Amino acid sequence: MSQPGHVVVIGAGLGGVRTAEQLRTAGFEGTISLVGAEPHAPYDRPPLSKQVLTGAWTPERIVLRDHDALAELKVDTHFGVPAVALHDGAVELADGTTLRADAFVIATGADPRRLPGQPDEVHTLRTLDDSLSLRRALEGAKSLLVVGGGFIGAEVASGAVAQGLQVTVLEALPVPCERALGPEVGVLCGRLISEGGVDLRLGAKLTRFIDANTVELADGERLSADVILVGIGAAPSLEWLRREGVDTANGVACDGHGRVLGTSGVWAVGDVAAWEDPVRGRHFRNEHWTSVTDQAAVVARDIAGAEPPPETVPYFWSDQFGLKIQGIGRPELGDEVVRLKGEGLSGGAVKGTVAGYFAGGRLMGVVGFGAAKWVARYRALVAKGADRAEALALE
Ligand code: FAD
Ligand code: NAP
Repeated sequence: MSQPGHVVVIGAGLGGVRTAEQLRTAGFEGTISLVGAEPHAPYDRPPLSKQVLTGAWTPERIVLRDHDALAELKVDTHFGVPAVALHDGAVELADGTTLRADAFVIATGADPRRLPGQPDEVHTLRTLDDSLSLRRALEGAKSLLVVGGGFIGAEVASGAVAQGLQVTVLEALPVPCERALGPEVGVLCGRLISEGGVDLRLGAKLTRFIDANTVELADGERLSADVILVGIGAAPSLEWLRREGVDTANGVACDGHGRVLGTSGVWAVGDVAAWEDPVRGRHFRNEHWTSVTDQAAVVARDIAGAEPPPETVPYFWSDQFGLKIQGIGRPELGDEVVRLKGEGLSGGAVKGTVAGYFAGGRLMGVVGFGAAKWVARYRALVAKGADRAEALALE
């Protein structure tokens, strides 16, 4: 396949920048344009709920590639101007610019979900500006109410408790992270939050906002805090993509190389993209840092006509309450959870616990709490779908 002459990457977050870098690594010599809605140089998001929020890191530290580094890579940038439409062979930007090209990569990420009637002063967290705004609000605050006990909820709660705030987390399900990690391991996530000094309310259904500092729950109880943050998941950023024949029901549907189904010359990576996953047997949006970088390498090599990179095992991490939670593989496919290391699953210390997820007797995934050494060692066993005896024998 001959290489395209011009690739336009839409979205200048992790997926967009990594795609541009990987195109050059794969030997692409044509023009690359990178379009970003935000005015900032591309930056990394994980520290937004961790080191940037607590003030441990300045925003400069999270820049992925500054303007000079992008120029060095021969990437033309269009920052602070969102794309508003993708036509055959051209992207239209909000300022009226049209960029014609023969390949397009959609990397527009996701936007935080909001609740009905959510006042504007209530915080969500996705961008650098969101993180700095939340940080300013927390500086003068004594209490924080977080709606949602997922990754953002737990990470922000952890940082706020460490700074001396009184923190309450509302989680709608009986166990946090139940959908991603299952009920047994979800209990450990919940223990980490409550043992970390947070008032964790499980099965708590928020019915309405009274104002920007007070919510009402289904049982009529009202809870107030100086600052409220809503962290109830993110929806793919797709409103700009008005295009017949593209399935955008839950992200842009792509094949296993990131090619957008129903198009030619269009790929998608990152949180916005739902790639076909033969192991899961369906399209799946993998909203984690490592998956975005892995996908960018696949797409860039596909565009450049290079051999695909070796297959990878999905991985995520989260830093909470002094521990690193790490997951590898596809835990949500497991139908049985088995203790591999540590005592958390039988009520003992969460730290050091490693859980194995098995389906049909094969290891589908592993989740560890403060057990980095072990998680790394299980990676090869997850990759090959080891049986229970082999997984239990790892010393
Ligand atoms: P994004 O990083 O969201 O980038 C998309 C970019 O596209 C944005 O800059 C957006 O402004 C831009 N854009 C949107 N619409 C348009 C448009 N129409 N035109 C042009 N540009 C547009 N993962 C982990 O594994 N571990 C972690 O600890 C972790 N922590 C996280 C903490 C936070 C606060 C967040 C938000 C995410 C975290 N993640 C973590 C997940 C990881 O950061 C994301 O999976 C990753 O950033 C997704 O990359 P992306 O390029 O797909 O999207
Ligand atoms: P998330 O991890 O999906 O968690 C959202 C949580 O909120 C879920 O537990 C969800 O439960 C719950 N929830 C949904 N509606 C609710 C309601 N009305 N009231 C109370 N709880 C409710 O999403 P997130 O924490 O908001 O993070 C947003 C994005 O950033 C995701 O893409 C996430 O992967 C990414 N992120 C990743 C990391 C990391 O990997 N370390 C860190 C931060 C952010 P249900 O399951 O029932 O919907």
